[in-house]
Amino acid sequence: FALTGKVNNTGLVEVPMGITLGEIIFDIGGGIPKGKKFKAVQTGGPLGGCIPAEHLNVPVDFDSLKEVGAVMGSGGMIVVDEDTCMVEFARFFLTFATAESCGKCVPCRVGGRRMLEILNRICAGEGRLEDLDTIREISAQMEAGSLCALGQLTPGPVKAALRYFEHEFLAHIEDKRCPAGVCKELTVARCLNACPAGVDVPSYVSLVAEGRYAEALEIHRERNPFAMVCGRVCPAFCESRCRRGDIDEPVAIRQIKRFMADHEVDHPWTPAKRGKPKKEKVAVVGSGPAGLTAALRLAQMGYPVTVFEALPVPGGMMAVGIPEYRLPRDVLNFEIENIKRAGVEIVCNKALGKDFTLDDLLNGQGYKAVVLAIGAHKSQRLGIPGEDKEGVYHGVDFLRDVALGKAPDLTGKRVAVVGGGNVAIDAARTAWRLGAQKVHVIYRRTREDMPAYKEEVEAAKQEGIVFHFLTNPVRVLGPQRVTAVELQQQELGEFDRSGRRRPVPVEGAVFQLDVDVLIPAIGQRTDTSWADGDGLEFNRDATLKVSKSLATTRPGVFAAGDAVSGPASVIEAVAQGNRVAMAVDHYLRTGQVEKVDYNPPYHYPALSWNMDAYAEAKRPAPKFLDVAARRGNFQEVELLLDEETIREECKRCLRCDLEWLESVGGVSLEAAKAEHKMPA
Ligand SMILES: Cc1cc2nc3c(=O)[nH]c(=O)nc-3n(C[C@H](O)[C@H](O)[C@H](O)COP(=O)(O)OP(=O)(O)OC[C@H]3O[C@@H](n4cnc5c(N)ncnc54)[C@H](O)[C@@H]3O)c2cc1C
Ligand code: SF4
Ligand code: SF4
Repeated sequence: FALTGKVNNTGLVEVPMGITLGEIIFDIGGGIPKGKKFKAVQTGGPLGGCIPAEHLNVPVDFDSLKEVGAVMGSGGMIVVDEDTCMVEFARFFLTFATAESCGKCVPCRVGGRRMLEILNRICAGEGRLEDLDTIREISAQMEAGSLCALGQLTPGPVKAALRYFEHEFLAHIEDKRCPAGVCKELTVARCLNACPAGVDVPSYVSLVAEGRYAEALEIHRERNPFAMVCGRVCPAFCESRCRRGDIDEPVAIRQIKRFMADHEVDHPWTPAKRGKPKKEKVAVVGSGPAGLTAALRLAQMGYPVTVFEALPVPGGMMAVGIPEYRLPRDVLNFEIENIKRAGVEIVCNKALGKDFTLDDLLNGQGYKAVVLAIGAHKSQRLGIPGEDKEGVYHGVDFLRDVALGKAPDLTGKRVAVVGGGNVAIDAARTAWRLGAQKVHVIYRRTREDMPAYKEEVEAAKQEGIVFHFLTNPVRVLGPQRVTAVELQQQELGEFDRSGRRRPVPVEGAVFQLDVDVLIPAIGQRTDTSWADGDGLEFNRDATLKVSKSLATTRPGVFAAGDAVSGPASVIEAVAQGNRVAMAVDHYLRTGQVEKVDYNPPYHYPALSWNMDAYAEAKRPAPKFLDVAARRGNFQEVELLLDEETIREECKRCLRCDLEWLESVGGVSLEAAKAEHKMPA
């Protein structure tokens, strides 16, 4: 059959019965192009169904495919990646199938059309929650009441999409957002759609092109007060979806942000008040990006806000996780000072559960609402013998101690870090800077599977850090102190639920690595030990149970950030900080707990350059501190690009927002380019 879509090797393939979907897509098809993530595979053509990553081990035979909601047919296999909207994908197939209906039986003729109308509405952001039940009912009627296979199978793609990707349907209906940035009506520009906080990228990029840095930064801060921080450490979700990337390379949005924010460093920001002073006091627990953003927005609305922080410094993982060579502390402190200037009080060295309780805040001290933004600071243990020996230092504890000036002496030591995420790479690069003689990173999967940012892994390699892939520690050796770690070689087995191949031990392949320090960095979770009897509930992964409005199970107590999502990123925490502030405000004004969106309007500044002149322009290469100059210090590694380079880079932007204004907003492109000015 035909193998098509987002797969490296497309074409006709002949396979034995019983081969798994994963083997076809990854071994024969060569995996997904451009390092994108596999999302689903549609089997059976327009009358089949989609199958997600969790079923990659399913053998390709009639019964197995039927069991997972698809069919085996002559239509071949269409592979889709993370950039595909599954609502739009289902609509695409439904359009074909309904056009084929001969119209003789009512369920097929009317049902297909009705379902298509509903999907059209959902894609346009006009869906309603009850639409999902209606789709399910129509599907059942079509399957039971249509006389031929066409009518019976037509609902298949929609049913399968709804079965596996209901969250995408809900995002279109409830958040008016197409997560993949495909549905035209809902996507002003793919970059801002991909940014968790919805930062107005085309506007600030456009203004930076003109040298209007202060205005650009003002727009940025409407949704994200941490421009200097994110200009350095953001994973740049926006860039991974930038439309310019379809032509050559994405616009260097993060570096533009950094230049814009750094340029304005001599102009401290006093955030504007957006509401009348209010008397209801709000307490925020935790001073990471989620807590500080929530505090800022609430202070801007006029509430008196106090942030309680357990550590001696504010900033959360921005201060005690991300190392200084990636995020200098003066940069972070500059942005925290901005938030204080909004009237937010930050009290350090005060821990919930130790120095005060929720009852103290809500009953004793008269706070009317509390936002818990306590992050995920408890290291996960390896769970292997010898883990408690001296010289074993868990990742986030190690980085926190270094950040707080309590770095261990690693001079001349052999260090091994376990893990494949950012914490592991940060710990390894920090150990190297502290003078370790040799630093190893031990990871149980392959390099391609590492969740750490690719550039960070590359930088670590340049610094001489040695990677051991498909390797897992099984025992820590040594009398009292660690002297070595026993490692078990792994090989790739079946696919797991995430769509990656599961590592399995190679029998008898065990070896020893001599080390003086072992740093396990395999994940973090929220410390819940303080919460007994507080009326809060937690999920199995230790995240706080919250409603869609970010309200916890205790009235008046809300939550945001890593404590809700699990370890994520600064900008995701900022986005939740914005949202939780809206929910708290709504609660304090109405007594109701409801989801309220944080949605400042977009700006559409006029286009100021000739786009055609930048058709061939190339993205500038980033600049870094020489490797030799990094040893023994925490100097910032990524260097600032110069003004001319940045302003020229801005002009590679295709101003997708103006096209949206024309096609959805009803303003002609020429008029939009020329006349649509920023609101005052
Ligand atoms: C090593 C490392 C590197 C990272 N690198 C990046 C990166 O490059 N880019 C990126 O975007 N993200 C990165 N992240 C993730 C990012 O820092 C977090 O997702 C983000 O900081 C989460 O914000 P938060 O406000 O939810 O929690 P946090 O930033 O963790 O802040 C929570 C705060 O609550 C405080 N707290 C906890 N318990 C209590 C209590 N009982 N009482 C009072 N206060 C309490 C904590 O001390 C902390 O200050 C990294 C994380 C780590 C650990
Ligand atoms: S915060 Fe991050 S994702 Fe959002 S626009 Fe900036 S770089 Fe992009
Ligand atoms: S080309 Fe410009 S507007 Fe379009 S997605 Fe990229 S940064 Fe955004």
